[in-house]
Amino acid sequence: MSATSDTTPRRPIVAANWKMNLTPSEAARYVETFVARLEDGPAAEAVEVVLAPAMAALDRVAQAAEGTRIALAAQNVSPEPSGAFTGEVSAAMLADLGCRYGIVGHSERRALFGEASELVSRKAAALLGAGIRPIVCVGETLAEREAGRTDAVVGEQLDASLADVPPDRAGDVVLAYEPVWAIGTGETATPELAQTVHQLVRERLRAHFGDAGDGVRIQYGGSVKPENTALLMAERDIDGALVGGASLDPESFASIVRLAAAGP
Ligand code: PEP
Repeated sequence: MSATSDTTPRRPIVAANWKMNLTPSEAARYVETFVARLEDGPAAEAVEVVLAPAMAALDRVAQAAEGTRIALAAQNVSPEPSGAFTGEVSAAMLADLGCRYGIVGHSERRALFGEASELVSRKAAALLGAGIRPIVCVGETLAEREAGRTDAVVGEQLDASLADVPPDRAGDVVLAYEPVWAIGTGETATPELAQTVHQLVRERLRAHFGDAGDGVRIQYGGSVKPENTALLMAERDIDGALVGGASLDPESFASIVRLAAAGP
């Protein structure tokens, strides 16, 4: 889980992607319950915990999470620094709200909003420029997997989505492997299948960033729930999880965090 072949330590990172769910008031109540559940259970300090609310709830979640070890994340960002871009939110604005992470390249943004890897890369660079760590998502569709194109698709997405990230910032990047066919479907990749792709991602990160690629954390995403967390996290190149549906329930997300912290 947290040690590579060359013993580079990688602190597991578990992130909740709430998508367009939870109003600001609901989100603030969630944080109260979630923090209480985490404190109730065995220590989960070994894991970095990230919450990615909708843009409208960022400020309320930042206030509710003050003084806790929860890191705030945005689900999107503009690649532009400022100007006439109605409806967009800049990286500097997110930093001012207290965001430490930003999700880019999520398959929903790629598929529903036509975002290509070149744009994802510019967004990642914009985040880094504002001191925010990008969580860069990659993953193949079912058709691409069935056509035997998983390695090519994931590799190409990774290279193109990191094109604007300077090698000396590799340590600030988190990769999320999210097979599109497993997102929101209840169908999870088996731990073995996920590890196979994570290993490919690790090799590609090494080719892209050199030795620094060993330190990049790779999350798995796709129907992660308490029932499958431990087995996924036991795999060598799985350094955490990006959780959608199961993160909407604070009890369930707290369980996932604790299981990820418990280790193999
Ligand atoms: C996601 O959208 O990033 C995700 C992994 O969703 P789910 O956990 O619901 O599959």
